[in-house]
Amino acid sequence: MDIHEYQAKEILAKFGVPVPRGGLAYSPEQAAYRAREIGGSVWVVKAQVHTGGRGKAGGVKVCKSEHEVEEAADRMLGRKLVTHQSGPAGKMVNRLYIEGGVNIAKEFYLGFVLDRSLQRVIVIASSEGGMDIEEIAEKNPDSIVRVPVEPAVGMQAFQAREIAFALGIPGAAVTEAAQTILGCYRAFRDKDGTMLEINPLVLTGENHLVALDAKMSFDDNALFRHPDISELRDKSQEDPRETQAADRGLSYVGLDGDVGCIVNGAGLAMATMDMILLAGGAPANFLDIGGGATPDRVAKAFRLVTQDKNVKAILVNIFAGINRCDWVAQGVVKAVEMTDLKLPLIVRLAGTHVEEGRRILAESGINVITAANLAEAASKSVAAAKAA
Ligand code: GDP
Ligand code: MN
Repeated sequence: MDIHEYQAKEILAKFGVPVPRGGLAYSPEQAAYRAREIGGSVWVVKAQVHTGGRGKAGGVKVCKSEHEVEEAADRMLGRKLVTHQSGPAGKMVNRLYIEGGVNIAKEFYLGFVLDRSLQRVIVIASSEGGMDIEEIAEKNPDSIVRVPVEPAVGMQAFQAREIAFALGIPGAAVTEAAQTILGCYRAFRDKDGTMLEINPLVLTGENHLVALDAKMSFDDNALFRHPDISELRDKSQEDPRETQAADRGLSYVGLDGDVGCIVNGAGLAMATMDMILLAGGAPANFLDIGGGATPDRVAKAFRLVTQDKNVKAILVNIFAGINRCDWVAQGVVKAVEMTDLKLPLIVRLAGTHVEEGRRILAESGINVITAANLAEAASKSVAAAKAA
């Protein structure tokens, strides 16, 4: 789960990470009021959206007066912000964060991720902040330092200082930098983060450190033990298809092709997508109905897939172990009748109660193309989508 910048900063501040003074605004008037509250003569108006690259897309505006703050807020609110990371649909701007301006002397990059091959939290830092880490890796790979953290003891103070030295942070600010890095690490660890990115981490003209931007993502499977994090969820920033599915106990991943896929199990979903690509088509999504799918759940899955206007054909591919083909077949029949399905439907069933499942489909009278194996199912789906 992702959260907004201002929410991440609130969490980080509790772990001793210095952040600029700021306040949330839902309207231009409120934005101007926030600026007055913060004081000073320079403010930054920042669109709160779950995506990076806001600066280049007009989602971050430095302002010199309350009037400018109000105008910038008026331009951003209620519009979709399209950045190079957001995808073409963009993200709706409903909230703004107003911050006091910071006198930037130098920008650094600081990130925390889980390195799966090392099975460790790894700190990634660079003296070249402000641009994307991908761009840094391309333009100045030597500036990147990587420090794995030993999980048994956690991050040590010396490691944080070493990172600060590697970044070339001046002596006067090293203690503050080490505190900042350690604070970020603790927030990441204690809250079960999967990603934390401070870009840029800024050295001010007065030799202080400030986290000027903050992005944080959390492990969905650990949210049950962090109610404070769960409640930060903002559904307006998520793919509505994926949110609807998750709320119904299904996992849905939206893609760009035209074959809708209803499968059981992530591994089978991958294989199904590979086979569709091999047959010359492209999947519109994959929807995992999981194990023990009842007819009702299958029907819900159908409703989700048919809501996607890109879908030209539906492929149901079930390898039933825990699942039962007869239940899936019942669900398919129910769904086709309920949704009055007009799209070509291709079904491949294998495993538990397969004979019964095939019989249900055959006797139902619904219009269904059956396939004996996955290769056949994939090529029939691609052909049907192309013909549509
Ligand atoms: P992102 O583009 O979504 O990553 O948004 P950021 O929060 O990183 O902002 C983009 C850029 O705006 C930063 O890299 C800074 O250069 C600039 N910026 C943000 N806040 C301030 C500020 O308080 N003062 C100044 N001068 N620039 C800022
Ligand atoms: Mn940034």
